[in-house]
Amino acid sequence: VPELPEVETIRSLLEPAVVGRQFERVQIDDPRVTRPDDPAGVAARLEGETVRSLERRGKYLAFRFESGRTLLMHLRMTGNVRRSGQGGTAEPHDRAVISLDDGSELRYRDVRRFGTWLLLEPADLQAYLQSRVGTEPLENGFTAISLERRLAGRRAPIKAVVLDQLTVAGIGNIYTDEALWRARIHPLRPAGALGREDVRRLRRGIREALRAGIARQGATLRDYSTPDGRRGAMQDEFRVYGREGKPCRRCGGPIEKTRVAGRGTWFCPACQPRAPEWVHSEN
Ligand SMILES: [Zn+2]
Repeated sequence: VPELPEVETIRSLLEPAVVGRQFERVQIDDPRVTRPDDPAGVAARLEGETVRSLERRGKYLAFRFESGRTLLMHLRMTGNVRRSGQGGTAEPHDRAVISLDDGSELRYRDVRRFGTWLLLEPADLQAYLQSRVGTEPLENGFTAISLERRLAGRRAPIKAVVLDQLTVAGIGNIYTDEALWRARIHPLRPAGALGREDVRRLRRGIREALRAGIARQGATLRDYSTPDGRRGAMQDEFRVYGREGKPCRRCGGPIEKTRVAGRGTWFCPACQPRAPEWVHSEN
């Protein structure tokens, strides 16, 4: 499940290989990739485009072309982009191949087939992203005040609110748990009940968790790998995610697992206490 650190790793490793290159030939074998658009039509429109920059917005990978168009790729659960030389070996879950003008190929692989490609005209990009992706957590605009505004008045659990892509762009289930542990905030606390100091710690926790993930080139649980086929290393350093019953790296107590917003959620009950004011009102 690629989140911001995994998508950013893919972006930064692909960037030098694709910027200035032309999409010479594009083959999309699975209609689900471009649904509801016709895959052959999208492929034909992509051929001849030259990459001006490779950017990331939230969990989207954005190929910006000289023409002004943008190919927005969302990897969802198991999408992946692999770089290879000409005539690279086809693998069972390859859904599309982009041949570049230097003879290299980008092979798009997706086991569960939830990933999507969307080719947008220049005029449509901003509106499309604005309704789906909020502030980038590693950019300067992500301040404690802006985060506090997004949380104000919301009664949903903080974990659910942080998972909302309009609250924090690019964060998902793994890094939300890691961020809440760093911030010492219980995942079920109502978002609007966090005080200013809590919000400051949360902002810092989000940034530290994401930066740690980028520094380790992401987390490989099952399918994720870098464009050159290597595994990330973040999974070896998780503080809470997937560590039920194991000792907390801060206090030594056992990590617990629960469910929040339908998602498996790991936390340390000692380091991330429930706030007293709402424990009373809960029963
Ligand atoms: Zn602890």
